[in-house]
Amino acid sequence: MKIVTVIGARPQFIKACMVSKRLRQDPSIQEVLVHTGQHYNANMSDVFFTQLNIPKPDYHLGIGSGSHGEQTGKMLIELEQVFIKEKPDAVLVYGDTNSTIAGSLASSKLHIPIIHVESGLRSFNRYMPEEINRIVTDHLSSLLFCPSQAAANQLKNEGITKGVYATGDIMYDAVLHYKAKAEKQSAILSQLNLTLKEYYVATIHRAENTDDLTRLSAIMEGLSKLGKKVILPLHPRTKKQLQQLNAPIFTDKSSLLFIDPLDYFDMLALMSQAKAIVTDSGGVQKEAYMLRIPCVTLRDETEWIETVEAKWNRLADARNPTAILKAVQLAKEQSTYPALFGDGHSADQIYTIIKKNFPS
Ligand code: UDP
Repeated sequence: MKIVTVIGARPQFIKACMVSKRLRQDPSIQEVLVHTGQHYNANMSDVFFTQLNIPKPDYHLGIGSGSHGEQTGKMLIELEQVFIKEKPDAVLVYGDTNSTIAGSLASSKLHIPIIHVESGLRSFNRYMPEEINRIVTDHLSSLLFCPSQAAANQLKNEGITKGVYATGDIMYDAVLHYKAKAEKQSAILSQLNLTLKEYYVATIHRAENTDDLTRLSAIMEGLSKLGKKVILPLHPRTKKQLQQLNAPIFTDKSSLLFIDPLDYFDMLALMSQAKAIVTDSGGVQKEAYMLRIPCVTLRDETEWIETVEAKWNRLADARNPTAILKAVQLAKEQSTYPALFGDGHSADQIYTIIKKNFPS
């Protein structure tokens, strides 16, 4: 069987590494890896390939940044050519980025079955570009791998019942596989002079928070009130926007420590010893739960609602610095910890189901 895997953004490298490894253990499966180039900086892309032993992409499309239409359109043109040349039995896509929707659209028009990993997530907010990417991809896919039963139930609500499997979350496989190694290898805590549980980690990159400078400023003000160091590995988009803000909170005396994006091991090591995590990232919300660190999500809604229901995650109004402070003060470890994201063996399950559906 031949699978073309399409990835392009940081969270997709992390999601794909465990599945790729499993697929490639079977000599009857040929995986052709395509990197769209949606993320292209060394610290947003190359570092993950090296650290997570992801094979070198067979195709690098070098698409780069652009508006949504431009970026997706360019990918569509290039991916169609790759699929026509490679004639895969299936195209494998991850998550909810423009690389996901471009891969799905190009393959569906060529009648190539789509396998979607991290299916069934919904924020019910169609202003989020990711929400559009998820809905369209799910409705075009033949095999839909859901990280939780709630995600599988959502697909059922939308009339999608065929090919749906709740396999647990592939990012949980990665956390379990790499956590100990990351903590051993990473020197990030000493490099940043941090004391265990005496600092916060924050990541902000969703368009709704970065594009509106008033909102971004309110977030920074909220974070600067927390009373402990806040480490902010900056996504390139956030960095660009922050440069336009010149608020006093960005002086040297601030408790906010802006750093470049981290590699996966440093990020895991940093998160795993934080007092709490503040984020608008989908992946980081989940990893906070997986690492048992209380989380505050700076959004009006989240697709990872189970983490909120379990009380390890709480939503805070990103426009209101006081609300951010209050939410962080309330963010505490809980006495209960339901197994929300499976048993850490989703890659095995995904492999077995693909094999059953595409006997070669
Ligand atoms: N991440 C990382 N370095 C960083 C920030 C995030 O390795 O500086 C990892 C994080 O641990 C998680 C993934 O990137 O595994 C999340 O990606 P991102 O927040 O960019 O996207 P989202 O999950 O919101 O789609």
